[in-house]
Amino acid sequence: MPSPASSPTAPPAAPPPAFAARATAVAGSPIREILALTARPGVISFAGGLPAPELFDTQGLRASYDAAFAESAGRALQYSTTEGAPELREAVAARVTARGLETSAQDLVVTTGSQQALALITSTLVEPGDAVLVENPTYLAALQCFALAGARVIPVPCDGEGILPDALEEIVARERPKVLYSVPTFQNPTGRTLPGARRAAVAEIAARRGLWLVEDDPYGELRFEGAEVPWLAAYPGAQDRTALLGSFSKVMAPGLRLGWLRAPEALRRAAVVTKQAADLHTSTVDQLAAAHYLRTSDLDAHIGAVRAAYRDRRDALLAGLGAALPAGSAWKRPEGGMFVWARLPAGYDATGLLRAAIARGVAFVPGAPFHTGTPDPRTLRLSFTTHTPEEIGVGLERLAGVTGAG
Ligand code: PMP
Repeated sequence: MPSPASSPTAPPAAPPPAFAARATAVAGSPIREILALTARPGVISFAGGLPAPELFDTQGLRASYDAAFAESAGRALQYSTTEGAPELREAVAARVTARGLETSAQDLVVTTGSQQALALITSTLVEPGDAVLVENPTYLAALQCFALAGARVIPVPCDGEGILPDALEEIVARERPKVLYSVPTFQNPTGRTLPGARRAAVAEIAARRGLWLVEDDPYGELRFEGAEVPWLAAYPGAQDRTALLGSFSKVMAPGLRLGWLRAPEALRRAAVVTKQAADLHTSTVDQLAAAHYLRTSDLDAHIGAVRAAYRDRRDALLAGLGAALPAGSAWKRPEGGMFVWARLPAGYDATGLLRAAIARGVAFVPGAPFHTGTPDPRTLRLSFTTHTPEEIGVGLERLAGVTGAG
């Protein structure tokens, strides 16, 4: 039988209408393309921002899924509320309160990863043409999210410690932005942390000039050393205008796709309606399993083990980086998180270097795509989480062969 397409009686076909302009305006992530190349066996990858899979508490999580089914499969497999499972919201509220920000379950919405919280806040606040301020460089998928919303994305000048408050003040006065998006602790991609005094200044500017703050904090609990810095949301002026985004991805497992949003009431209510349009609610069984895990396992002890392993890995990377990068390269020692950000000397181009690196079995992410405006081709991001210190040493030897440092 002829297929309908080749049938002589098929009507002439008009092409379907074009995609929405916003869908074609946003480029795919070059990092995902690089990650595909680095999936080859034997490649030592400093590219992906992935947590170490051998550190997942597989047994504990599996037992929690079993328990979620055993306690009430009917509930675990059923539709549930958009705001999230009450026991998970309670457990997150207790953790957030323990970290210094008084929070009740009602202040929170469970989201499908913190990435969804970012998407919800963006579609709730940002109209095409609205100005959104970002750190420069910043998290790539946040740039994609703002581009999809048709935002005018404006970089705020930063130094080695993050946002420069005087520059922020000047840009806010000039551009009248709606939102400042910040990853103030162990930022992706730079690993840097905004000091408390600057957080206070950012909060004060936001309050005085009338600005929403989006504080994205997936890495804050991965501190290896140094003193905790309070959330931006905790500083005077920020309380009534900050959407704080948290995630279980880096402390439990990213495949769970569990995050949370803490926001002032009106913004939270609007984001809940936006979430209804997006996915109705986050997976019930995943939420109940996570809530069970938080009740029965010691997440803080688990985070302690992850921190210790990552600290060793960071140290291995820092110990070998000087010999692996060309003389005149610069980088900072992050006090936590997953990334080291480096800058090669004048004349080097990290994107060009990557091809040769992959051929030698080592990978990193060039820094250019994280930038808004003119990219800095000399920058690169190295993630230290997914290899042992020994493997990191081998990877750095390979890198030295590529850069000519070795
Ligand atoms: N924000 C930042 C800064 C990130 O680096 C990431 C993950 N790489 C996310 C948000 C998204 O995390 P989640 O898995 O919670 O969606």
